[in-house]
Amino acid sequence: MGTTGKSIVKLDVDALIEKLNSALADEWLAYYQYWVGARVVKGPMRGEVEAELLQHATEELGHAETLAERILQLGGKPLLSPEDWFKASACGYAVPSDEFVKAILTQNIEGEQCAILTYNKLLEFIGHGDPITAHEIGEIMEDEVEHEEDLQNLLEDLETFIK
Ligand code: FE
Ligand code: FE
Ligand code: MG
Repeated sequence: MGTTGKSIVKLDVDALIEKLNSALADEWLAYYQYWVGARVVKGPMRGEVEAELLQHATEELGHAETLAERILQLGGKPLLSPEDWFKASACGYAVPSDEFVKAILTQNIEGEQCAILTYNKLLEFIGHGDPITAHEIGEIMEDEVEHEEDLQNLLEDLETFIK
């Protein structure tokens, strides 16, 4: 990383990198949960739900890319093995074994809620210590807030069908 770029980070950089790697693990797990969920989902509004899940999968992958780039800029290394994802993850992985739309949507809503709260804690940790990372995390959080809303709206519409 550029020397001045690094000198303005007023935080424990190793601790920050560890938290960013935890978020990176969450994003990869979220990516796969959406990706495979889109493929197995069944029930009313299947096409609409599938499209939304795939769009979210793509966005989670984008978040992983942002996090990995920032980790490298800070002099760290992104997690190198999928085996590390579960160890580092804050939000874990919900197996979509119940393929009904309502179950899949509910699991992914819980995932987004965990992501929002986890990123919010990360922002509190950063405070004014690293405006670049704070800005990037803020942008990721905007997406997570939108994801939660999109899925809750789909679930609300779905419930008018299955009542
Ligand atoms: Fe994400
Ligand atoms: Fe998300
Ligand atoms: Mg969406």
